Parts: sequence; C-alpha cells; structure tokens
Amino acid sequence: MTGGVTTRRAFAAGVCALAALGSALPGPAAETVQERWEGLPLLDVVVRPGESRRATLAVSESFVGAVLDTPVLVVRGMHPGPTLCLTAGIHGDELNGVEIVRRTLQRLNAQELRGTVIGVPIVNLHGFRRSSRYLPDRRDLNRYFPGRSRGSSASRIAYSFFESVIRSCDNLVDLHTGSFHRTNLPHLRANLEIPETLELARGFGSTIVVHSFGTQGTLRRAATDAGIPAITYEAGEPMRFVQSDVERGLEGIRDLMGAIGMLKPRRRAREPQVFNRSHWVRSDDGGILISQVELGERVEIGALLGTVTDPLSNEKSELRAPHLGTVIGMALNQVVMPGFAAFHLGIRVGEDPPLPQPDEDWAIEAVEDTAMENDERPEE
Ligand SMILES: [Zn+2]
Repeated sequence: MTGGVTTRRAFAAGVCALAALGSALPGPAAETVQERWEGLPLLDVVVRPGESRRATLAVSESFVGAVLDTPVLVVRGMHPGPTLCLTAGIHGDELNGVEIVRRTLQRLNAQELRGTVIGVPIVNLHGFRRSSRYLPDRRDLNRYFPGRSRGSSASRIAYSFFESVIRSCDNLVDLHTGSFHRTNLPHLRANLEIPETLELARGFGSTIVVHSFGTQGTLRRAATDAGIPAITYEAGEPMRFVQSDVERGLEGIRDLMGAIGMLKPRRRAREPQVFNRSHWVRSDDGGILISQVELGERVEIGALLGTVTDPLSNEKSELRAPHLGTVIGMALNQVVMPGFAAFHLGIRVGEDPPLPQPDEDWAIEAVEDTAMENDERPEE
C-alpha cells in the first residue's frame, strides 16, 4: 500500500508543475510528429491525411460465438500532429461518453485538424447491448487492462483493444460516469505527478481535477504505465444522457485539442480546481438512503450528508462529512446495504485535516488488489 505521505508528495509535485507551466503550452510534441505525414494504418484500414474512416476491431468473445465488431472512428488531419484517442462505453451502461465521442468525431474537420483523432464510442458493445456495466461473464473490463493474449475472456478483449488501438495513441481521454445508481459531478481524474498528464488535465480547462494514480487494471492506469498520458472524464450517472455533462465534455475536449496543438487554441478557460485526494463516505447501516446535499456542494467537517432509515425498525442513522470537502459523487436516493459507498468527497490542497489513518479509503486507489469486489471502488 502506498501511504498518504507519498500521495501528498506526488500531489505537491503536481501542483508545483501546474504553477510552473504558466500559460505557455507547447505545441505538438516533436517526437510524435511523423517526418512524412502519410496514411495511418489502423486495424483493417489505412486512413490518409484529410480522411475520416471507420475501422473495425473484431472481438469474438461472445458466449454464442458471434463476432461483435467494435467500430473505431478515425479522423486524420491534413497536417502532422499528435494522435488523441477518445474512448467511451468501457462500462456498457455509461452513456454520456458515448455521445461525447460521437459528437466530437462528427464535428471534426480533417482539413483544419493537425494530427489524428481516434474515437471509440462503445468499447464494451456486449455490455452496451444489454445496458450492463459488465462483459457477458460479469467481469468488469476496466479491471483487465492492458490484458493478456492468453488470459481470461476479459483479459483477451482488453489485450486486443490495448495492442491494436491504444498503442497508437499519444494521448488518451477515457470517458465514464458514476456507477450503480450513483452520479458524478463532471470532473477529471489524472495522475498529476506526470507532467504530460498534468498538461492534458490543464488543457481541458475549468474543470475539477482529482489527483489519483488510477486503479490497477483500468485503461487509464495501463495507458499511463505504458507511457501514454491519460485522463478520465467522469460525469453524470449510468443509463442516462445528461445534456449539460455531454456539453461540458465536448467543450473540454475541444479546449484540450487547442492546448496540444491539434486545433486553433481558444481563449484560455479558467484554471482547473485541483483536489489532491478524495474520500468515500460509507453507510454503516442498511436502509433507505435520503441525501441532504447536492453534487458540487461544499461541506464542513461534521455536515449532514444524508440519513439511512431502516424501513422495518424505523431506526435512523446519519452520514456526516469526516472532512472539509466538495461532493464530487453521490448515490441517488435508494435502499443501501451496510458498507455502501454513498458520498464521494473531493479534498483540496491545504484543506486536509490531520493526516488520515493509513487504512482509510482515500488511499484505496493506490492499493493493488484486483480481488476486491468491483463495488469496493465504485468508479472508473
Ligand atoms: Zn465507468
């Protein structure tokens, strides 16, 4: 387990770098620009400069043996530049990102674009067709990256996707929502310890950024470990399209493309708000959860977040904020079990109360334990 001190140091480094970056963001990194700008071979197509094409990744891991082809949309700009990858629907029930990728690719004009955008609106088509977070075998695809060629079904799908698509990316934005009847305030997750990742997060504009390394097995973590700067955009809840969350994501990606030299930069948005860590507040009791706060609300230590009432015994317990923070994610009103992660608090630099105990949840993202139930970390 990585202790809190390490996380703090990492974050401090990120903040310093954030300050040091100033307003001058570099253009496309020289090493990512090909000497001769020609056709990009990807999967079953070659995309020439100025072209928009649809490639196909065949994923044949269905129970019934049917091949489900994953469409991969590619826009190759007329001019050399980096390759930005946008992925959504790794969790098949998370819809906002699907729409963000679709609209981004549809709006792109290859004549004005520098570099290449690779968009995968629905990575987990199996889950999407069944409105499920999971693959058909109930595995969470976002715990298996970068995958193994001879591993489990999930691991093979992850491997195939990672090797044939993600390895072509210079930068990655993976799009998600809250999970299981939870909703997220639009925010980014990024490892701010890495300067290139920090640059990506900053390019997204006036968004909340939560510093985290990313759980092992997530696409973001695997890409980061492979040297590809990657951020996650989290917004809204599963099974719903939320227009404002989609719009915010579109704006952020547009700004990001300006910041990394792929499109004409726009007027700089406000600086992102950075949270150096986050904490899940769990219910110790089972019952009916009724929230007393809203997404984005700032809460003081001890503030009432919600109540849980046992429908049979009528006993009521309260969930209170253990930190000064901002509600960045929360459960919708529902019946909960003891241990249910109900409120996600983002905690800003300098707002930390005394050092938390090492076994507290906030360090959980640094823990390598893929045996944990998925619901233990109801995110990404
Ligand atoms: Zn997700």
